[in-house]
Amino acid sequence: PKYQNVGLIIGVTGIVGNSLVEILPLPNTPGGPWKVYGVARRPRPSWNADHPVQYIQCDILDIEDTRSKLSTLSDVTHLFYVTWASKSTEIENCQVNGKMFKNVLNTIIPNCPNLKHICLQTGRKHYLGPYELMGKVVTHDPPFHEDLPRLNVPNFYYTLEDILFEEVKKKQGLTWSIHRPGIIFGFSPYSMMNIVCTLCVYAAICKHEGVPLKFPGSKAAWDGYSDCSDADLIAEHEIWSAVDPNAKNEAFNVNNGDVFKWKHFWRVLAKQFGVEPGELDESSKLSLTEMMKDKGPVWDEIVKENELVGTKLEDVGIWWFADSVLGRECMLDIMNKSKKHGFVGFRDSKKAFVSWINKVKAHKIVP
Ligand code: NDP
Repeated sequence: PKYQNVGLIIGVTGIVGNSLVEILPLPNTPGGPWKVYGVARRPRPSWNADHPVQYIQCDILDIEDTRSKLSTLSDVTHLFYVTWASKSTEIENCQVNGKMFKNVLNTIIPNCPNLKHICLQTGRKHYLGPYELMGKVVTHDPPFHEDLPRLNVPNFYYTLEDILFEEVKKKQGLTWSIHRPGIIFGFSPYSMMNIVCTLCVYAAICKHEGVPLKFPGSKAAWDGYSDCSDADLIAEHEIWSAVDPNAKNEAFNVNNGDVFKWKHFWRVLAKQFGVEPGELDESSKLSLTEMMKDKGPVWDEIVKENELVGTKLEDVGIWWFADSVLGRECMLDIMNKSKKHGFVGFRDSKKAFVSWINKVKAHKIVP
């Protein structure tokens, strides 16, 4: 056959979906040559149009839509689940995300005789608790490793894991892996959490208004060690689990393997946009959500003036997320388990930061 494996990416325009769809079709990708299907709700955006993928517009929360669009994909061998829905409470997150995942599994597992492996992406909130309880729930002492018991609070990641464990039993030989990144550095103007894109938009607005790039965060984030997970590295990690027998039926942390401080990266960001870097100012309690709330028209002006890809400020500047990342200490996790199982990939986070900023610029999302 022309293809050795067939990947189905659920969330193909998301921050990791976009990396998977760039990497899977490459000639030297493990398990290749890959045929690739990709699912998202919105029409295919311009920045995704060049990838060799069969794009399927489908709402996986809708069982009818899921059945009608996905039950015909009978040749899928590997499922990459890189999506989620955000609701106002974690109980609702559990219900809605559980339903989405079940809709996909209940359609794909019975209809794909050659399905071999399911990659489920969750995240470090497995150890931290959901956003609504973060800082309120007592966690294990970091650095976190994969063998720690679950926290005794609702968490849609636990719901997804439990569904996965139940559903894989329905097909003999079907394997799984769970991937737990921290803050992701990657490219996607359609992501619900994209720190690099959000900071680029903030910096572009500061540049446009001729003001310094104030740091809207805490001392813990400014001075303390942080880490991140490169979207391409996560894609490589997921592809590794998909094809390597040593990575089956396990959950893995996935981070870049180094640490950084936001006070250093703040200067990098400022330099990339030609703005004056601000310093930590603990007294002012700045919040991007507050500072950016009336900037919609300013953003529209920046888009027009610089002939950028048309975006709305609320899609590309995810202020609550940046406030959350910069507002607290980053709790670290470790990569020993992945290394023991044979994954030794890593990234230089500073280089990665600059290269994702350049990608956001190159795709004309920011000036
Ligand atoms: P993104 O928000 O970047 O992307 C979501 C993708 O799914 C988009 O392609 C979106 O496109 C699509 N999508 C959303 N809803 C539906 C739906 N109902 N039907 C079909 N497609 C849909 O995802 P992430 O990679 O950020 O999230 C995956 C997991 O990673 C989540 O559990 C998240 O918590 C976790 N994570 C994320 C981090 C980050 O920094 N982003 C950090 C750590 C963990 P469209 O809207 O057009 O449908």
